[in-house]
Amino acid sequence: MNAHAPLPSGTCGPSIRTERGQRAVFCGLTGIVWLHRKIQDAFFLVVGSRTCAHLIQSAAGVMIFAEPRFATAIIDERDLAGLADMNEELDRVVTRLIERRPDIRLLFLVGSCPSEVIKLDLSRAALRLSQRMAPSVRVLNYSGSGIETTFTQGEDACLAALVPDLPEAVSTDELLVVGALADMVEDQFARLFSDLGIAARFLPARRASQMPAVGRGTRYLLAQPFLADTARALEQRGARRIAAPFPLGAEGTTDWLRAAADSFAVDPARFAAATAPGLRRARQALTAHSEKLTGKRVFFFPDSQLEVPLARFLSREMGVELIEVGTPYLHRGHLAAEIERLPDGTPVVEGQSLDDGLDRCRAARPDLTVCGLGLANPLEAEGLTTKWSIELLFTPIQGYEQAGDLAELFARPLDRRARLEV
Ligand code: SF4
Repeated sequence: MNAHAPLPSGTCGPSIRTERGQRAVFCGLTGIVWLHRKIQDAFFLVVGSRTCAHLIQSAAGVMIFAEPRFATAIIDERDLAGLADMNEELDRVVTRLIERRPDIRLLFLVGSCPSEVIKLDLSRAALRLSQRMAPSVRVLNYSGSGIETTFTQGEDACLAALVPDLPEAVSTDELLVVGALADMVEDQFARLFSDLGIAARFLPARRASQMPAVGRGTRYLLAQPFLADTARALEQRGARRIAAPFPLGAEGTTDWLRAAADSFAVDPARFAAATAPGLRRARQALTAHSEKLTGKRVFFFPDSQLEVPLARFLSREMGVELIEVGTPYLHRGHLAAEIERLPDGTPVVEGQSLDDGLDRCRAARPDLTVCGLGLANPLEAEGLTTKWSIELLFTPIQGYEQAGDLAELFARPLDRRARLEV
């Protein structure tokens, strides 16, 4: 991740600081679980160990209904003996895979800790295989390695790998929405943008042949807060980011849409007419959960990089008190509109040392702790109520129609705890 200038933290705004130390997060391979469902003719071939294969299978296992579009090419001891063999082996695996699965149009070679340790050059392998398989299959590569990364960086790396291959845009009239969204969320946003008179395209597209164009002057809107490398790659192609908060909750969704509408000079009356019905439904849905959430004290451990937008949503729309907002990385630029909406004095901790964070969490005894899977069980055993942050990636939560579901994801564990106590 890139380095960012520190935000001045005075008496106004949240109190931001950086901590160093051990963290407990999943690796970037996890992103394959939602990306393989999004790009319907892509295949993700992890070049890794049996551990990597187990991680992907257990993370995605419950969600596979059809033939999976991911697999692991296992690096074993024989492969470790010589790199030349490893490349030949990889070519053999890919050739066999494409023969068996002629529906594949886009193949990602996904690097892992083992492939990085043995310095296997997957970019050269992708180029070699792409040349051999063109034009029917494109082969790209990215790293999902868990060394010094967090699991949402897998999506960032995957989308960043797509950017150099995107077609050149001929006009600047289209909006580019960036970040994997559930299909139904994407459809809802497509309708809203159409009502606003904005032609919107989405990255990633659902099919390899339908990826959007980008070029000098393309305006893009981030739908996810963890896409630093993708944004940089888009800007290298001449695209410009529309600054906005993220589309979580009634207010977040409205402000996100408004940022695009302002950029495309949409008439305010048209904006109000297009957004009013969704906004009304979202507010109603949130009301149903506000009683359970208002006044509750919430602690975020760093995990998904969604923490700051979620904290903003919970505090402004659900009346939650934020004890601490830990986040693995804090992109001050992409999150500026979120940071400025957090209550004054909210402790935001970038990086967070696991032991120190645990000490503070135990001392504070929050009503709800949002954390990774590894921390949830021990904290539950200590009597704390937890929410798995990874669920927020697997569940559609963006937009007006999902605002109620988003609130419910936080209300449900509180409800369960209350019932257990009864
Ligand atoms: Fe583990 Fe690294 Fe494989 Fe992820 S990429 S499963 S962290 S070995």
